[in-house]
Amino acid sequence: MTDDMAESANLFPSVRIVLVETSHPGNIGAAARAMKNMGLTRLYLVSPEDFPNEKAVFRSASAVDVVERATVVSSVDEAIEGCHLVVGTSARERRIPWPLLTPKSCAEKVVSERRDDSDIAILFGRESRGLTNEELHRCQFHVNIPTGKAYSSLNLAMAVQVICYEILQAAEGEPLEPDWDMPPATTDAVEHFMTHLEETLVDVGFHDPENPRQLMTRLRRLFTRLRPDEMEINMLRGFLTAVNQRTRSD
Ligand code: SAH
Repeated sequence: MTDDMAESANLFPSVRIVLVETSHPGNIGAAARAMKNMGLTRLYLVSPEDFPNEKAVFRSASAVDVVERATVVSSVDEAIEGCHLVVGTSARERRIPWPLLTPKSCAEKVVSERRDDSDIAILFGRESRGLTNEELHRCQFHVNIPTGKAYSSLNLAMAVQVICYEILQAAEGEPLEPDWDMPPATTDAVEHFMTHLEETLVDVGFHDPENPRQLMTRLRRLFTRLRPDEMEINMLRGFLTAVNQRTRSD
């Protein structure tokens, strides 16, 4: 397939499907197929265990272009760089609850928050143990696919299928138009702010890294829930810099 044909199959050019440390190459192929069936083609692979591999090509059927054009990166940070919305999929509840979406409300959010100037990423975890807590805390929202009680963990590609199906459904007749005066902050900008905040909290003696409790996780949850825009993050960074100047000159 030519590049042009692959592009015309892509109804969601700003949506990245990110598979983290996938063990089985067949799942990568099956996920690529699930994506292309639903009009998504931007596949990111974070340190896949066994890729490229002919099993991925075989299982992708006519979505081999999606497999061949997959972006392979070595960290989740790289996979979500420049994204203003990051959603993590998870089969189970975690210790500190995070804003949770259904597949349908996730798809509505993805469709309504699409932009031309920055991307959205949806993360899928390892077959063996899903996403780590740290990876899940990099997401503004978690999404859980409801299942029967006895067995909540879907095959990876099946989970990709459900999420992508809902995105295509939600996109019916939806225009692409941002309705905010400032662009949203990217998750990397929020991450830099979190690092700056932590350093400053240590500096002023509010945060003790030797006894962190859940302070930074809870503050991270607060700021990811707020969904700050670019200007708001810049103001907060400026405020922290002013605090730093004051405490460091004392
Ligand atoms: N055993 C792992 C699940 C791995 S399934 C665990 O307990 O976390 C591989 C991936 O498929 C998950 O990381 C998630 O991205 C996706 N997935 C599987 N079942 C899901 C569900 N019910 N809801 C949302 N995502 C799911």
